[in-house]
Amino acid sequence: MVSRVIPVDPFDLVIFGGTGDLARRKILPGLYHRFCAGQMPATARIIGAARTEQDAAAYRGQVAEAIAEFLPEGSWDAESVAQFCERLDYVAIDARGEGGWKELAGLVREGVVRAFYLSVAPSLFGDIAERLHAHGVADGESRIVVEKPFGRDLASARALNAVLAAHFDESQIYRIDHYLGKETVQNLMAVRFGNILFEPLWNAQYIDHIQITVSETVAVGGRGAYYDKSGAMRDMVQNHLMQLLCLIAMEPPSKFEPDAVRDEKLKVIRALEPVPPSAIVRGQYRGDANGPSYREDAENPESRTESFIAMRVQIANWRWSGTPIYLRTGKRLRARESEIAVVFKDPPHSIFGEQEGRRGNVLVIRLQPDEGMHLRVTIKEPGPGGMRLMEVPLDMSFADALGPDEADVPDAYERLIMDVIRGNQTLFMRGDEVEAAWAWTDPIIEGWEERRDVPELYDPGSSGPEGALALMHRDGRRWREIK
Ligand code: NAD
Repeated sequence: MVSRVIPVDPFDLVIFGGTGDLARRKILPGLYHRFCAGQMPATARIIGAARTEQDAAAYRGQVAEAIAEFLPEGSWDAESVAQFCERLDYVAIDARGEGGWKELAGLVREGVVRAFYLSVAPSLFGDIAERLHAHGVADGESRIVVEKPFGRDLASARALNAVLAAHFDESQIYRIDHYLGKETVQNLMAVRFGNILFEPLWNAQYIDHIQITVSETVAVGGRGAYYDKSGAMRDMVQNHLMQLLCLIAMEPPSKFEPDAVRDEKLKVIRALEPVPPSAIVRGQYRGDANGPSYREDAENPESRTESFIAMRVQIANWRWSGTPIYLRTGKRLRARESEIAVVFKDPPHSIFGEQEGRRGNVLVIRLQPDEGMHLRVTIKEPGPGGMRLMEVPLDMSFADALGPDEADVPDAYERLIMDVIRGNQTLFMRGDEVEAAWAWTDPIIEGWEERRDVPELYDPGSSGPEGALALMHRDGRRWREIK
């Protein structure tokens, strides 16, 4: 099977923070990958804009180094890197001052898509948005891309939305959540709404519960002091896990179009019930021979910030009433794994006798390490000796089902940047979605602060604190194992 690559319109993409970590690790290697795939028109250009005083030649050298550093060996070659780098320009700019803006205005062209990727601290969004307009660099057609964190509570998210709205229409604003760029996440929509098989069962009558797990093996490490002001709830749940929850729980949109999809996601967030303290477990990792404890990493011996959270969430609507969704995410856990498991109810009666039991099907949507889906089904154990049942996975790993070329899917960032150039906002969060997510999150965090809630300690390399196991156990359920 040969991948279909649909070229995009000619563009000027300006990356503010073009020398920063995110640009070097994700954005520029991703763009190189799209260039190699033939998706970048001959006249497309990328302009790095950052504080460092340097010329375009020095920037090109820096980008070539970043590609070599962050792309696996064998997935790049010096000749195509050099060709890609010819597309690059650079301007030294001061987001808060006047330096560089005239030069930038002289570089961007009329008649091509203009996109501005703000890979800088959110505190600079307002300054940049204002100057883009004041210097005539952006117009009513331009697009602006912003990164997480989009606020740290409802008030700050509103303020950021207002700052952007002062210069850009909502239809020009692309708030990135790279989880939405993952192939499997989009496949989730294809599976739900492109088949007749699943949707009739996709409700509280047939689904016992849903588990969403995003487990990481890394510690907060060098980001400790920053992370300590945020914690797993702000860093992961409010954005990534919430977005996954929306896609799994939303009603079918009338069309696969940006506002139709985002309207349905918003309804899910608005239907989330407040979560009582008894349905939440927060944790902090202990230290061991392989690394310091969370509090040491955070350089805060008194820290009450969570590096792990597990919670039971209820959606108060007709479809989901009575079906809980369990969310779990944390650092320094046993494995790096992200998955959504839809656990169906047991069949109502076993014709094979109670000894064989009744087993519900489980649909697992795996986001990492290897993206794919499998459905656990019950079959007869092969061979003579009567009717004994066993469970087997119906597997749909992309590599197996589609062949290695097709499974070499673009990274989430590449896909999302190309969507920006195409002007497709479907996989980007709308301002009201982000605000609704904070409106649900804020009272939970405020409750911890009022109660001076102290997270439970857990061992590094485990699947989290005991309390998280107990949370499920009390409901007569079990977490899927983190392997
Ligand atoms: P970084 O500190 O590595 O880079 C910051 C960039 O901004 C540099 O290029 C710097 O020159 C530029 N900059 C800073 N102040 C400036 C000013 N006054 N005028 C012009 N340019 C200025 O940061 P990063 O890790 O690349 O992160 C960028 C943004 O992306 C942040 O908001 C961060 O929260 C977010 N983000 C980063 C990651 C990641 O993996 N690094 C992941 C998700 C979100």
